[in-house]
Formats: sequence, structure tokens, C-alpha cells
Amino acid sequence: MEPSLFTKIIRGEIPSEKIYEDADTFAFLDITPVNPGHVLVIPKLQYETIFEAPKESFAAVMETVRILAPKIKAAMNADGINIAMNNGSAAGQVVPHAHVHIIPRFKDDGREVWHGATYPDGEMKAVAEKIRQSLI
Ligand code: AMP
Repeated sequence: MEPSLFTKIIRGEIPSEKIYEDADTFAFLDITPVNPGHVLVIPKLQYETIFEAPKESFAAVMETVRILAPKIKAAMNADGINIAMNNGSAAGQVVPHAHVHIIPRFKDDGREVWHGATYPDGEMKAVAEKIRQSLI
């Protein structure tokens, strides 16, 4: 497998502002932040999306997110934090190495992520049933 951009960052072949590292995960500043303090948490194991993610590796990523989120909120004096993960190009993923965004948010910062819409009549039940069926 070709090393991804993020694997090269872990190896130090591409520079980054490292925030945290442990045996399974690595965290660094996003180079084009939604807000200052926007951090990416990545698995050291290279895989593309949550769909390929081994349980232990992804659990380690989320544990790093859990540890870092309140620290980043405090350090940046943020009012809130978004945790986001894009999986697949249709979902906006650009770098093909799984990563979770930790994004500091400030009151009235205008960084709206997405807008919801209500279901047409009767569709909510059908959608829930489709997903429940996929779990069987
Ligand atoms: P995504 O759209 O979820 O794939 O996000 C990829 C993120 O990686 C974007 O927010 C980019 O700004 C960020 N990014 C790309 N290259 C680098 C880099 N060399 N250092 C830090 N962040 C990067």
C-alpha cells in the first residue's frame, strides 16, 4: 500500500504541528482550519474510512478524541466543539486515511455545517425500518 499523506505526517516526512501521539493514534493541527485549534486525530494504522476500520484502532482514535476535545475547548476558550468524520468522497472526504476532526466552535461564528430537512409524510418510519433491517 502506498503511504498516505497522513502516514507521511506520522513518519515526520511531511511537517505538522503535532498535538498528541500514543501507540495507536496521532493528532495534529489541520492546515486549513474551520476555526483556530481545529485538530485531526488519525490512526497510525493506515485505512481509508470507518468502513475498513478495525475495532481496536478506531476505538483508540475515539479515545484520543475524548481526551483531546475538552483540552482543546479549554485551550482555545471555545464555546463548543464539533466532532466530525467524512467517510467517502460523497461525504466530503479528501484525504484517504481515516481521520476525525475536532473543531472548536464560538458563539455566532457562522460556521454552519449542514441544515436538516423534515421527512415527507410516512417516510421516517420506512427509513428507520430499512436501517433496523440492515442490523439483522
Ligand atoms: P477531509 O475533507 O475530511 O478528508 O479532510 C482532510 C483535511 O486534511 C482538510 O481539512 C485539510 O485541511 C487537511 N489537510 C490536508 N493536508 C494537510 C496537511 N499537510 N497538514 C494538515 N492538515 C492537512
